[in-house]
Amino acid sequence: MPVSSRQRFFIVLLLILAGLLASVWLAGRYAERRQWLERSVEAQGQLELYAQSLRILVERFRAVPAIVAHDGEVQATLRAGADPLLRQQLNHRLQRLNAEAGAAVLYVLDARGETIAASNWQEPGSFVGNHYDFRPYFQDAMREGRGRYFAVGVTTGVPGYFLSRVVRDLDGRALGVVVLKLEMEELQRDWAGQSGVLLVTDRHGIAILASRPAWRFRHLPGLSAAQRAELLAARKYAEQTLQPLGLQALRALDGGGALQRVDGPDGRRDYLWQRRVLSEEGWTLHLLHEAHAPGGAVRSYRLAAGGAWLALAFLLLFLAQRQKNRRLRQRSRAELERLVDERTAELRQAQDELVQAAKMAALGQMSAALAHEINQPLTAMRMQLGSLGLLLARNDAEATQTCLARIDGLLTRMAALTGHLKTFARNSPGGLRERLQPDTVVDHALLLLEPRIRQDDVLVLRQRNAEAWVEGDAIRLEQVLVNLLHNALDAMLGRTVRELRIDLQRDGDAWLLTVGDSGGGIAPGDLARVFEPFFTTKPVGEGLGLGLAVSYGIVRELGGQLEVDNDRDGALFRIRLPAVAAPVTLAAGQQE
Ligand code: ADP
Repeated sequence: MPVSSRQRFFIVLLLILAGLLASVWLAGRYAERRQWLERSVEAQGQLELYAQSLRILVERFRAVPAIVAHDGEVQATLRAGADPLLRQQLNHRLQRLNAEAGAAVLYVLDARGETIAASNWQEPGSFVGNHYDFRPYFQDAMREGRGRYFAVGVTTGVPGYFLSRVVRDLDGRALGVVVLKLEMEELQRDWAGQSGVLLVTDRHGIAILASRPAWRFRHLPGLSAAQRAELLAARKYAEQTLQPLGLQALRALDGGGALQRVDGPDGRRDYLWQRRVLSEEGWTLHLLHEAHAPGGAVRSYRLAAGGAWLALAFLLLFLAQRQKNRRLRQRSRAELERLVDERTAELRQAQDELVQAAKMAALGQMSAALAHEINQPLTAMRMQLGSLGLLLARNDAEATQTCLARIDGLLTRMAALTGHLKTFARNSPGGLRERLQPDTVVDHALLLLEPRIRQDDVLVLRQRNAEAWVEGDAIRLEQVLVNLLHNALDAMLGRTVRELRIDLQRDGDAWLLTVGDSGGGIAPGDLARVFEPFFTTKPVGEGLGLGLAVSYGIVRELGGQLEVDNDRDGALFRIRLPAVAAPVTLAAGQQE
């Protein structure tokens, strides 16, 4: 189905618009992804710092319970059983040691999980006498030698990280457990000033630390009811109710982060959520930043992409248009060339036809004159034949001879006339090159026109030159002379003086054949135009204006020149032809 230019316009417009939308959308997406990635990388850096500070804190106290577990006094007190004096001494010792270490509480449990001494023995919330056998840090230490456990203190209600170590007798029997409680409240308070929300979740997904108090003890999705019950039983988080955090993943981002919609203590909000695992503790750090749609950069990316797309589209359109114009130009030039060739061929054919027609017209004119002319010798011959009969009867041999000679002369002339007529009517192929004498050609031309010359009573003045030889086609040169003579005779019609002057002279290395008349000459304004095809001053039907044009061409073809001028009382035509040597077979001056 052909597409109209209107339809094409709309298709191109649609394509440009579609491309514009696509490029703007893609650029927006790209800018957004870049921005999210940048923020993710930034958040990861922050998380790394938080992880570092947490790790340093734990590391600082990790060795303390191990050292205390090897303490002889601790072991002796545990071995001694319920000895109030020893226990009191241990209380003092633990108090001093903890003051050095800087932890929250340092205490010793016996093999049944009862606190026999604690650094806070003097304080209202003293641990002394309390049972902690249900705590995993006690059970782990008794079983595996050490334990680490996060929990909210049952006595104090203050959350802490418990690091424990078993105390063994010399024979390897477990005497009890040394426990150090770390409170991270201060660290948490430091975080509160930072941007975003920082959470530390334990392996159950419960936020044990949070930079904002309301987020603490919320749990991430995935905690089953059974697990929850179990945790409550262990009183790990004391009286905390463990509220859930509603999470809805919006989009995963490059660099490991994600966009999450959170139903949390601050209501429903979208966060850029980044996490990092702390493998030693089994904890995970979470950093949440409120996700504001990246605005400015995205807008400028979109604008730039739209601009670039439009520029590209218009450049392509411009190039396509240029290509089309070039094709059109080429096509029209080819068309023009074809037209010119066609017209030229037509003209050439018309010209050829006209030339032939002109020749035939001239032949017609001459045939009429010749018929009239041949009639005369025929009548004369018939008379001579009559006389011949009489002379034969009289048996006058001498007179008979004369009569026959006259008849022969008449026949010879008629044969010459018809012979030339034939050759003139033929369309000579041209290009024939033979040596010829201009005088002979002039003779033939005059012979052809003799009837008219006689009829018009024209005086012919000739200057011959028997040495003159030129090269060319005799028939064509004769055609030139017939044309010139014809024009001269036409010009002299009705003039009182009628003189035809034909001269042949040497001019440098050429022969100059001139034909002059007393016909009054050519108007000065026409002199330059007489050789133009179809230039004629003769009435319609008499002149075609081709004679001189054809003649000019023939002379040029023979290597010569044809010129015209006005002389005394008429026109003077000059034919200049290159001279050639006389052929050796013929003696100079000898005629045909
Ligand atoms: P045509 O004879 O058919 O007009 P030609 O080409 O032979 O065509 O001649 C062109 C014109 O040149 C003639 O019409 C005439 O005006 C002028 N012309 C040619 N020969 C002569 C002459 N001998 N004297 C005056 N005018 C001439």
